[in-house]
Amino acid sequence: MSDHKTVLVLGGGVGGLVAANRLRKLLSTRHRVVLIDRERQAVFQPSLLWVAVGDRTPEAIQRPLAMLVRKGVEIRIGTVEKLDAETRTVRVEGQDLVGDALIVALGADLAPETIPGLADGGHNLYTLGGATAFRDELAALTSGRVAVLTASPAYKCPAAPYEAAMLIAGALRRRGIRDRVQIDLYSAEAGPMLVTGPQLSAGVRGIVESKGIAYHPEHQVTKVDVAARRLIFAHGATADFDLLLYVPPHRAPAVVRDAGLLSESGWVAADRRTFETRVAGVYAIGDVTGIPLAMGKPLPKAGVFAHAEAEVVAHNIASVWMGGGARRTFSGEGQCFVETGDGRAGLGAGNFYAEPTPQVKLYAPARRWHWGKVILERRWLKRWI
Ligand SMILES: Cc1cc2nc3c(=O)[nH]c(=O)nc-3n(C[C@H](O)[C@H](O)[C@H](O)COP(=O)(O)OP(=O)(O)OC[C@H]3O[C@@H](n4cnc5c(N)ncnc54)[C@H](O)[C@@H]3O)c2cc1C
Repeated sequence: MSDHKTVLVLGGGVGGLVAANRLRKLLSTRHRVVLIDRERQAVFQPSLLWVAVGDRTPEAIQRPLAMLVRKGVEIRIGTVEKLDAETRTVRVEGQDLVGDALIVALGADLAPETIPGLADGGHNLYTLGGATAFRDELAALTSGRVAVLTASPAYKCPAAPYEAAMLIAGALRRRGIRDRVQIDLYSAEAGPMLVTGPQLSAGVRGIVESKGIAYHPEHQVTKVDVAARRLIFAHGATADFDLLLYVPPHRAPAVVRDAGLLSESGWVAADRRTFETRVAGVYAIGDVTGIPLAMGKPLPKAGVFAHAEAEVVAHNIASVWMGGGARRTFSGEGQCFVETGDGRAGLGAGNFYAEPTPQVKLYAPARRWHWGKVILERRWLKRWI
């Protein structure tokens, strides 16, 4: 066993940050932990929902990755342009880096450009720029129609568009203009959070509709007519809007697609318990992976899973390099807050690896779940950067 090894962590989002921190703690200092990201700032994505309704500033939900240097993690800001899994080599801004282990945590790329008119006609909830631009237009709106749209049926954080619609309703109510603004939620999928089962899905739908939000499932958008402010759907229906907030289609980052690590799902194939890929020493965690569940749908893309998977992978790399300790596996347990507006949230929690279907319970909206998310937000970036 070489005395000086290097682990390259590709991506400084949820999975990458947890993996790099844990490895730095568990490995002796003769081993290097290098984290690579194209962005200088890490963004706490769950708080984009609050940015979109003016409850947070963009500055409040970011932290510079460079701060990790004080913990002994080497930071490399740059785009991963090429990934050769077999030789565990990555090209970053033209320079090759070789690792003894690679952790691919590059997340999901957002692809609004795949739907004509989408990027020009609406605002992307999943970026800071999109959430901020939507916030400004919402603040100027005094009446009309707000449309919340999922542009494909599978996307990270399956609760997010439903939460966004309810937070918008709450923000309009606070301004005293809720009755002058119609809110429509058009989803490509057949119902909210369907991976959690029909009962939980119906429960979330009921909460959404109780806020006076008109829900239109199975509306796959094919085009946005920007001039007419009109959504055009695959089954021929159309819908007009004044302000559009959308969740864009997702796809695996090009560098990962080119590396030959994908399964037929279009996402990286990894062992559902250990997150090893088909190449020894190469692991993939978080949104970049496609983990099939027995019920036919994949494990949802969510930070709670990226975090838990990172813990498993970091522990297992360290136990081999440091010579000892039992290997860990991912259990499939996870939970997610569902913001419902007016300072309340529900909570969905359970085991997504349960068979034949995930066993997930929905806890009714309450102030304590909302405060749970606020506390998580306050602590998360400070804990990991
Ligand atoms: C609005 C919203 C609300 C959400 N709410 C929740 C929630 O309540 N609970 C929950 O569990 N999850 C939530 N999520 C989902 C959660 O944020 C993601 O699932 C999680 O961030 C995935 O972690 P990851 O490490 O796989 O990817 P990410 O956190 O997306 O990190 C990927 C990183 O890779 C970098 N990168 C990508 N390509 C390259 C490249 N070629 N070169 C260099 N760097 C690159 C990116 O810059 C990024 O920093 C939410 C997401 C959104 C958008």
